Amino acid sequence: MMIGDKRIRSVNWHITTKCNYKCRFCYVQKLDREILDMKEACSVLSKLKAFRTDVIDIEKINFVGGEPFLHPLFYELLQAAHEMGFVVSIVTNGSMINEKNIHRIAKYVDWVGVSVDSVSNLKEARLGRGMGHHVSHAVEVADLVHEYGIKLKVNTTVTKPTCKENMEPLIQRLKPHRWKVFQMLHIEGQNDGCVRELAVTDSEFQNFTKRHEHISLIGGEKPVFESNEDMIGSYFILSPSGKVISNEGGSYGTFEFEEFLEKQTSVINIEKYVNRGGLYEWADLTTTGTKREINEKIRPEFPPEMLQANM
Ligand code: SF4
Repeated sequence: MMIGDKRIRSVNWHITTKCNYKCRFCYVQKLDREILDMKEACSVLSKLKAFRTDVIDIEKINFVGGEPFLHPLFYELLQAAHEMGFVVSIVTNGSMINEKNIHRIAKYVDWVGVSVDSVSNLKEARLGRGMGHHVSHAVEVADLVHEYGIKLKVNTTVTKPTCKENMEPLIQRLKPHRWKVFQMLHIEGQNDGCVRELAVTDSEFQNFTKRHEHISLIGGEKPVFESNEDMIGSYFILSPSGKVISNEGGSYGTFEFEEFLEKQTSVINIEKYVNRGGLYEWADLTTTGTKREINEKIRPEFPPEMLQANM
C-alpha cells in the first residue's frame, strides 16, 4: 500500500450488533439484520473487491461488531476475506479469545484490535465493559496475540470517568503496534442515554491526548487520537447487512452499495480519512514473534497496582 496514494483503502464491517458486553457508550446498538448466509456474505466481499474508483480501492477489512466472535459465520468470513486477498483485521472486546480460537483465526487474521478504555477492572465494569476482569484478561489476550505473531491494536474510548487516567504503563505492557484513542462519540439513536454522564469535552480529550502522545509503540509508531470531529465522516463503514453507513449529522444513515457509488465523496471525506491516520503500513509492521518462548523473554511484569479493582 502506498501511503501517498490518497484513496480509501479500508472498511469497517459491523457484521453483528450482538454482544456479550453492555458498554453504555456503545454506538452500535441498533443496526440492521446480520447476514446469515455465506453466499450473501461473499457477495459483499466481492463487491468490496471489485469496488475500485479514483477515491476508493479497498485493501483491508476490519470485522467489527457488536462482538464479531458471536456472528455464526465469523470464522468462515475471516477465511473468505483472507483468501480473496484482503488484509484482515478484527476488533473484539477480547472476552472470547483463548488459546483454542486464536489458533483458529491466526491463519487468516493480520490484526487483532482489543478494546480497553481504562487501567481499572472496576471502571471497565461500571462502563459496562465486562464483569470486573476486563483489563486483566486484555493483558492475557495481548500476550496470546503476540505469541501468534498477529499485529495488535488497542482501541480506547475516553469517557468522563477515565479521562484523567494515565494509561502509559498499561499500554507499555500490552505492546500494541497501534493504539487508537477515541473521544466518546454520541450517535443519536444508539447511545443517547449515557451522554450526560460519560461524554468528555474537547478540552478533556485534548488533555488526555497531551498526557499520552509521547508514547512510542512497536516500530516507533505513535498513538492516534481521534476527536469527535475527526471521526465523523472519515470512516467507510458497512452495516451488518452490508449497506454503507454514513454518520454525518450525528446519526446513522444507510445506502445501498450502488447508491453509494454516486455519493461516495459526500459520505466519506478523504482528507479527514487520511488526516486521522486511516492509511498506514498495515502489512509491513514488525511482529513480536510467533513462538511462545520468544514472547516469554519480552514479557515485562505488569505493575499489579494498575489492576486493582478499586481505582
Ligand atoms: S464490547 Fe463493543 S460492541 Fe460490545 S457493547 Fe462494548 S462497545 Fe458495544
